[in-house]
Amino acid sequence: MRFYTTQHRLGRGTDVTWRAKHLFSPTYDLVRAYKESRIDWDTYREKYLNLLRIRYSADPEKFVQTVKPNEIFMCFCNPKDHCHRQILAGVLTKLGHEYGGEI
Ligand SMILES: [Zn+2]
Repeated sequence: MRFYTTQHRLGRGTDVTWRAKHLFSPTYDLVRAYKESRIDWDTYREKYLNLLRIRYSADPEKFVQTVKPNEIFMCFCNPKDHCHRQILAGVLTKLGHEYGGEI
């Protein structure tokens, strides 16, 4: 399935911020730890990947099927900044989805 990522704006797209409590959302605690500089980006990345790994293990089929055709995953972060949507794109690509890039 082809998917895209984008900066959050009104309109179409799937919110994957912590607030959305989406299967691909990070937790509030994780986001807060990074925003408050208690953990660096590499640690954030590791913890977010671990979170996704746990959710994937719980239900691999659901995890893969959550990606709909041409779905756009959104977060508020500026495209130039670190954002979990980039990490997510890497994970989904490994699972066989096709990343159409940041739009
Ligand atoms: Zn973000």
